[in-house]
Amino acid sequence: MPYLELAFNLPIRSNYTYDSSSPIPLGCRVKAPLGKRTLVGWVVGHPDQVPEGVTELRAVEKAVDTEPLFDEKFLEFARWLSDLTMCSLGEALSSMLPGGKRESRALPEIADTDPAPVVGRLTEGQKKALLSIFDDLGDWSYLYGVTGSGKTEVFLRSAERTLEEGRGVIYLVPEIALSHHLVEGLRQRFPGTVAVIHSGLTPSRRLTEWRRIQSGEARFVLGARSAIFAPLKRLGLVIIDEEHEGSYKSSASPRYHARQVAMKRCRDEGARLIMGSATPSVEAWSLMRDGRLRRLELVGRPAGGETPDITIVDLKKEKGIFSKLLVESMSRVLGEGRQVLLFLNRRGFSYQYSCRSCGEEVHCRHCSVPLTYHKSVDRMVCHYCGYRTRPPRTCPECSSIEMQASGFGTERVEQDISRLFPEKKAVRLDADAARRKGMLKTTLREFRDGEIDILLGTQMVAKGLNAPGVKLACVLSADTTLNLPDFRSSERTFALIMQVAGRAGRFVPDGEVVVQTFRPDAPAVRLAAKNQVAEFYEQEIDERRILGFPPFSRLFRVVIRGRDEGKVRSFIEKIASELSDGGNDWELMGPAECPIGKISGQFRRHLILRSSSFDRTHAALAAAMSRLPAVYGLRIGIDIDPVSLL
Ligand code: ADP
Ligand code: ZN
Ligand code: ZN
Repeated sequence: MPYLELAFNLPIRSNYTYDSSSPIPLGCRVKAPLGKRTLVGWVVGHPDQVPEGVTELRAVEKAVDTEPLFDEKFLEFARWLSDLTMCSLGEALSSMLPGGKRESRALPEIADTDPAPVVGRLTEGQKKALLSIFDDLGDWSYLYGVTGSGKTEVFLRSAERTLEEGRGVIYLVPEIALSHHLVEGLRQRFPGTVAVIHSGLTPSRRLTEWRRIQSGEARFVLGARSAIFAPLKRLGLVIIDEEHEGSYKSSASPRYHARQVAMKRCRDEGARLIMGSATPSVEAWSLMRDGRLRRLELVGRPAGGETPDITIVDLKKEKGIFSKLLVESMSRVLGEGRQVLLFLNRRGFSYQYSCRSCGEEVHCRHCSVPLTYHKSVDRMVCHYCGYRTRPPRTCPECSSIEMQASGFGTERVEQDISRLFPEKKAVRLDADAARRKGMLKTTLREFRDGEIDILLGTQMVAKGLNAPGVKLACVLSADTTLNLPDFRSSERTFALIMQVAGRAGRFVPDGEVVVQTFRPDAPAVRLAAKNQVAEFYEQEIDERRILGFPPFSRLFRVVIRGRDEGKVRSFIEKIASELSDGGNDWELMGPAECPIGKISGQFRRHLILRSSSFDRTHAALAAAMSRLPAVYGLRIGIDIDPVSLL
């Protein structure tokens, strides 16, 4: 009887061979002893021989599944993913399959909203887009149009046609918690055939959905990033909504981008791919410009509404974050009985707590980042590791008692709002507030129904929010994204302003938008305010060309972290010396300390390869990493096409 080859969710490159008293098919999970532990692994092969050098063969304990979770073809797909992202086969499988990974993040429940009304006739633009999408097979299209231009309807009609052809559909959204209206709409429109996959599901629900897809009962899969791996038998269409969103890139191993996986899968299975956004990524824009991605544009807003006017406020000329113009506009709009949406990408009360005598900032004990003061709990909190401490009364550096909070977080703005507009109902919606059960659901419903006058929030409110009563939307500080030390900060700021602007005047053509910043001349701010979208992308693409950043190169980032700073330093130096000569294929940048040099007590250093030849750089990096022996106490992170360099 053949042996069993198992892959485990461990950063170990090789698989393990086991004995089994009964045959267990490929694709099943089994419990097996490894060292002193018992782990769950996947059956990935049935070798006839024990690998050379293995003397003692252990037996698996028992099979977890009776029916396989995947087949040979899926395994090939997993191998491709593990090669591409340089992780182990087990790590790849664990991110692709249900029950593979423990989801650590507690997600807010899915918000409750009414499904969108059924659309009667398509606009001319929608019809044209639909025709193009279906005019031949296997092509990639990009649906570009402002929020409210009717992209969703085109996605749904394309899905409908694909299902009629007898093939399956995967519909990716960045955050399922904000997509309830879509879930409801889909269930009504495609009864019985919708499966929803997201990290908020219990492992057993995930498995149930997986089985429904495997059996062919569900042919329409909606989900976040990992839904791209859904085991549809005949995939016909993948839709990527809000293509520019950073959440499509996994921030843990395997660090894949759902867009890249989708492109591969669509090519392999002859399926169509449609991406869409009001603010495409710079990469997508340049693909469209070069004609490698079919650009389909929707103009106007079929449900009414117009692009709102955007006014820039220079914060250098203001006393606080509530500028004169903002307060006036808010008073006027609230006086008309309309709603206001305020956006600030910074949780907590203040983002700095520092000494007035010596300027010392209070930092986290474990991370090289300042702590944020959270007034509601009267604690200084680290947003990276969760460390909490009482605000110090005296300066840890010079013992002065003049400690002060400065800078604005959502908590502080909330307090200012209630001082400025005491009679109005204001609600704060951020990750802290959304932790309370039912909060997200209730807030979104109340805001839509006009029961809340002012909604203040972080990222969460910038997308997915559907409130017809909003007249004024404001980005309180564009600088939170603009000042990040990252080559994408400009792109992100532009997208943020456009997305927030999309929340005002969605249905009524009288929206107003205010953008506040200390850098009113930054191109991202200036061009967003003038709605000069093409100009922004042209300028950004030029900039990237001059600097040699993507899409004019591909980046490979290697991060080493560990508690021993010396070890971290010498290991990254070693990797660097292996890769110092890239010839015409790549250029080595670094090694250097990461912008955030320490997280949770671990020192972090990185290097970046800026590559003009993806395959050769990839091969060289993989070879270098396999030549270097693992060092105890160090973790290696490889990130190809990173979306963040922090
Ligand atoms: P997007 O996805 O581009 O943000 P949506 O598809 O959500 O836009 O459309 C915005 C609004 O326009 C929705 O309320 C939708 O029902 C409505 N809508 C879409 N297409 C049409 C149409 N052809 N006729 C009338 N209303 C439409
Ligand atoms: Zn001091
Ligand atoms: Zn910390």
